[in-house]
Amino acid sequence: MKSSPNSPPAFQWDTWYNSVGGRTIAIEEVNNILNEIKELQYPRFSGKVNPVRTDFHTPLEASELIKRKALDLGAGDVGIALIEPTDIYQDREINETFAIVVGQPMLWRKFQEVPSNESAIECLRVYFTLGEIVIQLAQFIRELGYPCKVEHPIGDSDVLHIPLALKAGFGELGRHGSIIHPKMGPLFRLGSVITNLELAIDHPIDAGIAAFCDICKACRIYCPAKAIPDERSPEAGKDHLGNDRYVVDTGKCFPYFAKHNYCSICLPVCVYQHKEWAKDFEGYQTKLFPDIDMKEPPKAVDPDIPKHKYPKNQRN
Ligand code: SF4
Ligand code: SF4
Repeated sequence: MKSSPNSPPAFQWDTWYNSVGGRTIAIEEVNNILNEIKELQYPRFSGKVNPVRTDFHTPLEASELIKRKALDLGAGDVGIALIEPTDIYQDREINETFAIVVGQPMLWRKFQEVPSNESAIECLRVYFTLGEIVIQLAQFIRELGYPCKVEHPIGDSDVLHIPLALKAGFGELGRHGSIIHPKMGPLFRLGSVITNLELAIDHPIDAGIAAFCDICKACRIYCPAKAIPDERSPEAGKDHLGNDRYVVDTGKCFPYFAKHNYCSICLPVCVYQHKEWAKDFEGYQTKLFPDIDMKEPPKAVDPDIPKHKYPKNQRN
């Protein structure tokens, strides 16, 4: 299956980092995890498929087994979506039909001060642990006799995790551009495994979250780069509920994100942060609202990347 002419290009990390003078976040633990992902996980994206295939009576039977496995491996949630051409990055092609979308929460206690070394390390920690879940889930599916591909949360994936997760019932798109999950809130990461194993698909949900975003502007108020929009963008297309989408100004967000420990302020300040998380089930003392370190934003950048469109809000 080829990407749609309307598909966005894959995010060109190197070009974006070059546009802000290079990658400057220098936290030893972050760099160690990045290296571990490259050395320990990249080589395990593919593997041998068991020639003896396990047959399933129904697609639902296969879905239930795979979802149970993902949860056993440590997933916070798992859902299944049919892949459409618009879910594939521009100029990419895949052979698979189903996406098994896996989410894993980040720890609220690591976002008590944002941005911070601790919040940056937590982002990378979950990229690694979620990477392990999708790699091991793919190994499980290959052992069942079905080929599949790992779409790592941090890697150069062929598919767009967010629209697939929305179709797989993960939640609704928030004003800050991230999905808000009814149970996990917005503080989680996504990865996928794609396959042709016939699976029963899940469906998008309407829990009233997107409607709430129309009156709540907390993330917009606390975004130091003023990158989160006031209004939805009709030209950006509809979300799964038929709403015009909110589109973050990447040219303003990225320089802040790149200079300030992957920023992430918009996630812990989100009103959909579940208050029971603040108790922290493992007994750690946490705050109901994080300390926000808002620095003067760097200059906006707009690298010359074909067809990468985003609104330019409140540009000076
Ligand atoms: S990551 Fe930071 S700069 Fe980017 S939208 Fe969120 S709060 Fe704004
Ligand atoms: S902070 Fe408010 S407006 Fe922003 S995403 Fe969360 S609920 Fe929506």
